[in-house]
Amino acid sequence: MRLAVISDIHSNLEALTAVFEEIENRDIDKIVCLGDIVGYGPNPKECIELVKTKCDAIIIGNHDVACFNHSELYYFNRFAKQALEWTTDQLENNQLDFLKSLPDSSIYANSRLVHSNPHFPQSWDYVLSIDDAIFNFAAFEEKVCFIGHSHQPIIYIENQGQKYSFAENSEITFQPSCRYIINVGSVGQPRDHNPASAFGIMDTAAQHYELIRVAYDIEKTQAKMHAAGLPSFLAERLMAGK
Ligand code: ZN
Repeated sequence: MRLAVISDIHSNLEALTAVFEEIENRDIDKIVCLGDIVGYGPNPKECIELVKTKCDAIIIGNHDVACFNHSELYYFNRFAKQALEWTTDQLENNQLDFLKSLPDSSIYANSRLVHSNPHFPQSWDYVLSIDDAIFNFAAFEEKVCFIGHSHQPIIYIENQGQKYSFAENSEITFQPSCRYIINVGSVGQPRDHNPASAFGIMDTAAQHYELIRVAYDIEKTQAKMHAAGLPSFLAERLMAGK
């Protein structure tokens, strides 16, 4: 099976459309989404509808939760909070119900799917170091756990249950003795200094994973953000990829 893994769309319709077009051209069997469909960007409704139609499994992210659980807003910075308040006003009740219905963890194609971390998904703690990874490898049994949340692609590797490393390569062939925590990066707001959308493809037959980058019309998204009155800081960071 060839599985596409997308995450952190953040209401960026131009990025999401470009990623789905790329997926069409890459002989993909199934698509899963690791959450944060909304927040930051100008097209929350359209992104929810597209993800709902195209994805075979969908996990909830912290921005999705904050749309219906307003006590969570406390944890966001003022730009994210402002965008989330705007987002909540845009959404229909059935879309809020849809977000509410999403799980915070799932297993698909024998792989663990979470937004933030497998240990305690709704803590929203990041996996940003080898130490974080070691702690989290103990929290799932599958060979691969896909994560998003930091918007920074990276692969953590556990070898024979005792050696740990990370790789920033865009491709990796799975080894029988290893397990992996793979951050697929962000579709709608990359933060690794590369503004192109990121997503992953896992080929289960070939035991191979690849990170794909796709250029999209950033200026169009920025113009919509300005028109909607969203914070200009959030529009500017798209071009810088940070
Ligand atoms: Zn996010």
